[in-house]
Amino acid sequence: MSKIAFDHALPPLPENKRIALVAHDGKKSEMCAWAKKHADALKPHSLVATGTTGSLLEQELGRPITKCASGPLGGDQQIGALIVDEKIDMLIFFWDPLTAQPHDPDVKALLRIAALYEIPIACNRASADFFITSGLIGKSYPRRVGAA
Ligand code: PGA
Repeated sequence: MSKIAFDHALPPLPENKRIALVAHDGKKSEMCAWAKKHADALKPHSLVATGTTGSLLEQELGRPITKCASGPLGGDQQIGALIVDEKIDMLIFFWDPLTAQPHDPDVKALLRIAALYEIPIACNRASADFFITSGLIGKSYPRRVGAA
């Protein structure tokens, strides 16, 4: 089977990151609590979210958040497109592994694009805790510079 080439260089992730936040309904309160706990660490970074998650986080954090459409209405795909356009540097995605989602294909597509474009992906609170407290969070980070 032929391998698809993806050989264009990706710019390094910047110091101040553009973080995408998505939480399924069963995980929204966990996401809000996580963001509140790490509000100071999140301050240097700009935040983008799917619609409902973004509205809840705006209330929780008292800061503006760029909001895409709601996930089931295409918000995950919009975030995927932003990753392709190199406008997102990290994905914090609290997906619910115990509940079927009507937009499951979009969720899968978003995770695939995030992996392909080499952005860090945290899919639960523990991973997100590790990311936000990492020494790399405020540093530039090189991504692929040649053929995969
Ligand atoms: P929501 O979308 O933030 O609009 O609820 C999240 C999702 O279900 O993907």
